[in-house]
Amino acid sequence: MDIRAYAKINLALDIVGRKEDGYHELRTIMQQIDLYDEIKLYAEAEIGGSGEKGQILVSCNDSMVPTDERNLAYKAARLLFDEFEITDAILIEIEKNIPVSAGLAGGSTDAAAVLKGINEYFGLGLSQEELIQRGVRLGADVPFCIMGGTAYAGGIGEELVPLGALDEFIVLVAVPDTRVSTKWAYNAYDQLASQGNIRHPDIDQMRAAIEMEDFGCIPDFLGNVLEYATIPEYAIISKVKNTMMQNGAAGALMSGSGPSVYGLFMDEDKAAKAYDVLDMFNLVPEERIFLTGFHNE
Ligand code: ATP
Repeated sequence: MDIRAYAKINLALDIVGRKEDGYHELRTIMQQIDLYDEIKLYAEAEIGGSGEKGQILVSCNDSMVPTDERNLAYKAARLLFDEFEITDAILIEIEKNIPVSAGLAGGSTDAAAVLKGINEYFGLGLSQEELIQRGVRLGADVPFCIMGGTAYAGGIGEELVPLGALDEFIVLVAVPDTRVSTKWAYNAYDQLASQGNIRHPDIDQMRAAIEMEDFGCIPDFLGNVLEYATIPEYAIISKVKNTMMQNGAAGALMSGSGPSVYGLFMDEDKAAKAYDVLDMFNLVPEERIFLTGFHNE
């Protein structure tokens, strides 16, 4: 079975609180984009029938990604194998196209794809809602990756509201060659927020604009409070944003906890020009720049 696991960007991301267990409560609008990992599931019979009972094997073309029980795709399979006492063996082959630790939900989308894939492959009969209930145990972005398209997410990612399909923009995603720890970004934000002076994105306005199909004003509502933490530390993030804006983006924003930055363009030539500028001035390695679009199934 072949599955495409799509990346996401945050059109808006706000932090509205912190729960006792340390989890941050978010309000965010997420959008899938046409950048995806390719996942292949092979059951025991297809791999020669030599697997141990209930064995889950993971292989990946990216050496940055663990292939043992730390892999989110493995965790997703393990969750369903244990619950449904699946005794087959399975091989999960992951071809990563989504840069790792970029704020594009690369791991979460692999986990979501495996939950959906195993549900279908083994005929478990779980509804989307039931998959989402299990997915949230693996990570805050997993429920959205199961649902896909465009959605509002609240809480720790489990309160999901699908929104109408957005297809207006060309999306240029650039992932600077630096690593931002998600934990560090949230901690740094907490410190800054305790001093005040945070301008929160207007999530309700953006949600209303999408629901009313008033897509032209989306770029005006882009906002991600985690930029308060990352931009002072990582100059490259604002350089990439500025480069996109100077080359015709209608709006540009960091996704998740970074370092990926995306620009929304109305004009394909301008997006292509911005791509060339990012590459020419070595702001971002060419293999980490993607000229893509929104993905809505
Ligand atoms: P998010 O946007 O959800 O915060 P991210 O895009 O910043 O996620 P990921 O690419 O999901 O980050 O990687 C985060 C960590 O998860 C990395 O340290 C990576 O080693 C680990 N990981 C586990 N499984 C996977 C997987 N299938 N693909 C990518 N990373 C994985």
